Amino acid sequence: MEKTSPRRILLADPSSISVREVFNSLKAKEYDIKTVDNGPECLKLVESFKPELIVVELLLPKMHGIEILRELKSNPSTRQIGVIISSSLTMIQNYNAAIELGANFFLTKPFSSHDFFLLVERFFEGSLVPDPFSPNVPHFHEATCYNPIASSTKSFLKFWGTRGSSPVSGNQYIQYGGNTCCLEICHDDQSIIIDAGTGLRDLGDDPRLSAQNDISMIIGHTHWDHITGFPFFAPLYRKDCKLNILAPIGYEKNTKELFNDMLSFGYFPVRLEEMFANLAFEDLRDGSTLKFGEIEISCHHANHPGPTLCFKIKSPRKTIGYVTDNEVLLGFHGTPENIGKDHFLLEPHLNLLNFLEDCHVLIHEAQYFPHEYHEKVGWGHSSISNATAFIKHLNCQEWIVTHHDPKHTDEILKRKEQIHLDVLAECNLDIRFRLAHDGLVVPL
Ligand SMILES: [Zn+2]
Ligand SMILES: [Zn+2]
Repeated sequence: MEKTSPRRILLADPSSISVREVFNSLKAKEYDIKTVDNGPECLKLVESFKPELIVVELLLPKMHGIEILRELKSNPSTRQIGVIISSSLTMIQNYNAAIELGANFFLTKPFSSHDFFLLVERFFEGSLVPDPFSPNVPHFHEATCYNPIASSTKSFLKFWGTRGSSPVSGNQYIQYGGNTCCLEICHDDQSIIIDAGTGLRDLGDDPRLSAQNDISMIIGHTHWDHITGFPFFAPLYRKDCKLNILAPIGYEKNTKELFNDMLSFGYFPVRLEEMFANLAFEDLRDGSTLKFGEIEISCHHANHPGPTLCFKIKSPRKTIGYVTDNEVLLGFHGTPENIGKDHFLLEPHLNLLNFLEDCHVLIHEAQYFPHEYHEKVGWGHSSISNATAFIKHLNCQEWIVTHHDPKHTDEILKRKEQIHLDVLAECNLDIRFRLAHDGLVVPL
């Protein structure tokens, strides 16, 4: 009896999983199977090996499976070779292109060696016809679905106001917002507030605040931009609410007297004593440390007209500095490169640098462009370059700028951001940088 030579199959597939699956089967021994992993090699081997069947991966490197199929079918000497297109991308467009160009079958990946050789047998029997298209969509099981929850949902800082000096509005302030300073620290469903600028009004209306009846509000200093949201804070008008107001010891008046003045009849229709909430006032000073569950907030002097504090917020995972009003390197207009740790202008800030040393993130103002600072020396705010010269002596990983100048529109702040990045690069400071905007949330 004449011995017939085994059927020749070319497997054009770069996937080692598919190749292994085919050769793991004993059935593989019944055939003469060769493999290639790219289009040009496939066409080259067709000439010398003369396969009877080619199984080609749709996304074959260098030439896709449809291109190979078209090439084979347009050449009279290869037209009779059977072609199975295989792919895990079972989409109607891929299926139609393969079948219309004369493929014998569209094989959906992954395939088992058993199914593979059943198809091969059907092909050599002459009974292989394409199955109708059926999309290969894996079943969705909600219980096993990967669905990560944002780390910022339980423990975060939220900027409710990022403007300094005066609130602004208008279509040139849409991106960064117009509310003055207000920061919410939220951890374990408890909110602590720093500063009562106009952003406080929106915060007071948030359902998160409505659910709390013991609220602490820390004021960095009592300039208008840090207190004008106070009378509009909804929890003040709730009998079930206790509000603790903590602010630096004043030079002339204490915080309660200042708030009383702000709510005198000439300015506002409801006086402090007429508020429904139970109000308590507490003094803060440099070195004060406050504990709110797992959150610790400590205070340090800032360089600003009048008694002003900045803060360090410690959560179990992160330490963040919050310095909204701080003029560093008073009157310095030179390059930040010239400010070494021993420079006499840095000397007044060494204690603050020590205080902020362990911060992962520093929120620090830089209200002015260098060219604007010439006319603002002594106003209590820093230029971009002077703030950079201060921050380069810290090891923080991220710097967020807040307390934007009311004259700085979105367009100007975009330009300011680029100058910040350029100055940071000039100082070889490899830290993440961004400008805060109203609504910005930072995970704690
Ligand atoms: Zn301010
Ligand atoms: Zn101020």
